[in-house]
This record gives sequence, structure tokens and C-alpha cells, in this order.
Amino acid sequence: MSTIDGLPPLREVIARHDLRAKKQLGQNFLLDLNLTAKIARSAGDLTGSDVIEVGPGPGGLTRGLLAEGARRVLAIEKDERALPALAEIAEAYPGRLQVIHGDALEIDPLAHLTPPIRIVANLPYNVGTELLIRWLTPAVWPPFWQTLTLMFQKEVAERIVAEPGGKAYGRLAVLAQWRSDARIVMTLPPEAFVPAPKIHSAVVHLTALPEPRYPADPAVLNRVVAAGFNQRRKMLRASLRGIHPDIETLLRNAGIEPTARAEEIGLEQFCALAREVASAPR
Ligand code: SAM
Repeated sequence: MSTIDGLPPLREVIARHDLRAKKQLGQNFLLDLNLTAKIARSAGDLTGSDVIEVGPGPGGLTRGLLAEGARRVLAIEKDERALPALAEIAEAYPGRLQVIHGDALEIDPLAHLTPPIRIVANLPYNVGTELLIRWLTPAVWPPFWQTLTLMFQKEVAERIVAEPGGKAYGRLAVLAQWRSDARIVMTLPPEAFVPAPKIHSAVVHLTALPEPRYPADPAVLNRVVAAGFNQRRKMLRASLRGIHPDIETLLRNAGIEPTARAEEIGLEQFCALAREVASAPR
């Protein structure tokens, strides 16, 4: 069977390199190259960008990114069994694919890249959330990346784009929407993956804003939001008690009722509160 890029079908690649999915590495592979090309397109125009792909596995999404014209792809993969399959892709796209073997949580890929940089990944849920938070909370903004296009379980994707008032709204929504435009661009059923997970998945596309929507110190905002949602059923005057001894006054100064709960508070008010906390004498 021929494929869009002339390389062998992924089922054959997986069988030849004995890439049986390992649960502990969160391996659920995408084998449909039309689908991986569609995900690559949802990352925007790749032709002038370097792309960091985290967790390429047998390379379905990598092939999509290269076929869609990414200038260069830097792929970080923890499972060394995938390296020979990825080397075959690198050979088919001379000079455009570099693979680093290692843990994406420990590797700084920046030295290898030229802006503009886009990040694309289909990662295990816990690694993806951890990396997303890191990419959203650098001390300096704008960040090194222009866009993030990330596969999550659908419930996590909904938490990233959630509005105030619902159960999905929390720290992820505040951090993501403060400094980026975030939207769900695709949802995928379990059958899109091999092996099929139990849950539906969704691709979230985030575009870094040139500057945050409202001024606030990232570390203070992060601390306030984490404390507020950690005890989300409590009133803010109780859940934020550890943030400042006179939190009630700071809440009022920020235009927030001290009896309100975190899920009722919008981004603008959280930022106002973070500014109050940052400037209050202790
Ligand atoms: N991108 C491929 C696809 O879409 O078919 C594979 C996706 S699979 C859900 C996740 C991939 O991330 C696996 O190849 C796994 O080995 C890799 N992985 C898991 N944890 C990782 C980490 N900490 N750093 C780098 N890669 C990781």
C-alpha cells in the first residue's frame, strides 16, 4: 500500500521494529497519515517554522509535520525502540528531522532551533499537562514558542478552554487564557489510536499573545490561582488565607467579594488580585 510520503505504512513500521505499545510510556499511536497531516495543518503554516515534536513514537505525526512543510522538526523521544523508525524518516527528509533520545521534561531543545518555533505533541496526559504549565509560565513573555498544538484527553482540553462558572474552570484555564488564545481544533474518538484508549481525545491550539491580557506577576498569579482552586469549594477569604494575613482587604481592593469562590472569578479579577498581593506590605 502506498502512503502520502512514499514511506511504508505505520502498521508495517511498527511490526518491523517491534514497537508494541507500552502502557507506562502512555503509548497510543496514530496510524492514519491523513489524520496526522490534518493535525499538522491545525498547527498553522509550518513552512517558515521550526517545530518541536515531543513524543514522536513511530513517527506518524512527525511524517505529517514534514509532509506539511515544516522547515525543521526536532523530535524528542524517550523510548529508544522508536529511534530506528525515526531514523528512516530522517533519511527520507534530508536535513529536516533531528531526533533527540531522552525525557522531554529534562531536555532543553532551544539550542537547536531558530525562531519562529511551534510545538506539536501527542503526549501522555501527565507529561503533556506538566509541559503545558511550564510553557505557559516562563518569567518573561512572549515565550520562545509561537504556537502550541497539543493532544490531550478531551476532559483536560475542556479545562484549558473553560470559562468561569463551571466545573472545568480552574488553574489550567486561567494560566492558558491569560497569555494565549486557546481553542479546541479537533476531537478524536478512541478508535483513532492503536491501542484505543478508554477516553476521547482533543487537540488544543494555543497562540501566544504578544503580551498578557492583564498585567500581573506570573509567580504571584500562579500562587493565588493554585491556592484558590486547591480548595475550590471554600470561600476565597478562607482558601487564600495563607497568601496574605489581610486577604479580605486585598480581595475587596481587587473588586472581589471575600465570600466568592474561585470558580466564579474571571481572569481580569484574578490578575487584579495578584497585583494587590504583590504590592501589599506584609
Ligand atoms: N506521536 C506518536 C503518535 O501520535 O502516534 C506517539 C504518541 S504516544 C501517545 C506518546 C509518545 O510519547 C510515545 O512515543 C512515548 O514513548 C513518548 N513519551 C512518553 N513520555 C515521554 C517523555 N517524558 N519524553 C519524551 N517522550 C515521551
